[in-house]
Amino acid sequence: ARERLNEYTHAQEEARWNTSEHTQLSMEGPEEGGITLSQYSARYREHLGLALNTIDLSISGGEKIGVIGRTGAGKSTLLLALFRLIESSSGSISIDQKDISEIGLHDLRNRISIITQDPFMFTGSIRSNLDPLNMHTDDVIWSALKSSHIYDYVRSLEGGISYMINQGGDNLSLGQKQLLCLARALLEKNRILVLDEPTASVDVETDELIHDAIKKEFRHRTVITIAHRINTI
Ligand code: ATP
Ligand code: MG
Repeated sequence: ARERLNEYTHAQEEARWNTSEHTQLSMEGPEEGGITLSQYSARYREHLGLALNTIDLSISGGEKIGVIGRTGAGKSTLLLALFRLIESSSGSISIDQKDISEIGLHDLRNRISIITQDPFMFTGSIRSNLDPLNMHTDDVIWSALKSSHIYDYVRSLEGGISYMINQGGDNLSLGQKQLLCLARALLEKNRILVLDEPTASVDVETDELIHDAIKKEFRHRTVITIAHRINTI
């Protein structure tokens, strides 16, 4: 634990949180959700080898991309790079022609929705988990739950969307949490959705529900899916 603490205290400070006014202005306008990697390389620590090595990749807005590769190939690292949880050692990533290194972290991370194998839920009602800033009406939230195929389950709970989720969401199954994350992603209306092996540990039926919802509801958005098996792509 002491080593870990040292690591944190000595860790480099994270980059600027907010986009400078100048860049913010240039971020206005319609978003396509196109992503371009140019000669992009990244490593986790100075003394380690490259986890991503001179990647060139161009994804058009609205395109659906599957990423498959053996364990340790760098699939999850690619997503970390998009969120700038890992910074480039050379090359660049752009979203809609804007270099993400010039976008503030808060703005950048708010523009991309993510569903992981370990979906994030905090202590609070289902409603506050889906819509923390209280921007949507109950009707809109119920309709997102319907689109995510978790409506019947939430209806059956005492209090419906007011039902309290325990710390870490441990009163919900993994599949239920993933479907709720899907509803959250729907409400966020971001142009880009990334999924890191979202269906690796759910049953076949839930897997199909998730795919069905993504196909229908994310038609016009850019979706990057990481999968272990080619059939889940
Ligand atoms: P999997 O299919 O097992 O999830 P992956 O393709 O997602 O594998 P990554 O997690 O992206 O693989 O890892 C790519 C490389 O980066 C590996 O060599 C791994 O050892 C290394 N790596 C991953 N996370 C870290 C970390 N936090 N610190 C140092 N090296 C890391
Ligand atoms: Mg991975």
